[in-house]
Amino acid sequence: MWLAGGVELPRTPGTYAIVFRNPRTCEVTAGALGRIRLARGYWVYVGSALGPGGLRARVGRHLRGPARPRWHVDYLHGKLRVVEVWFRTGPARLEHRWARVLTGEADGWVLGFGCSDCGCGSHLFYFARRPGPGAVLGGRFSEKKIVALYCQIPQISL
Ligand SMILES: [Zn+2]
Repeated sequence: MWLAGGVELPRTPGTYAIVFRNPRTCEVTAGALGRIRLARGYWVYVGSALGPGGLRARVGRHLRGPARPRWHVDYLHGKLRVVEVWFRTGPARLEHRWARVLTGEADGWVLGFGCSDCGCGSHLFYFARRPGPGAVLGGRFSEKKIVALYCQIPQISL
């Protein structure tokens, strides 16, 4: 699986955020969570890939679409379009920290989405305008520094 610019997702563990574009307000049934309304704009989902195959396996699954839905995010496939992936390699599970920061940066979120196993309010965040990777850092670093810390992929080709 290739990302634009010849950057390939690493097989190492890491934390990621997937940026979806939603062209029109829609409703999705997300498993046990039930029916949720997704406003037109951008949605950011955060997760960790600490298992076998690392970021490539986990994010690749999200991009291809799962054979059978398992997580809440799986139900977004086919409804929302992935426009960007932010990731950071390393064994630390940063998804909950990123989720906490996004809570302060986002325009909204879906309560209980993607966080059945943690204490976060949500792992899916809404932005009316397209966010940059600085959103997971809460504006604590300059854009230049963020690019060094995070690999920003503007377009994805499957
Ligand atoms: Zn969490």
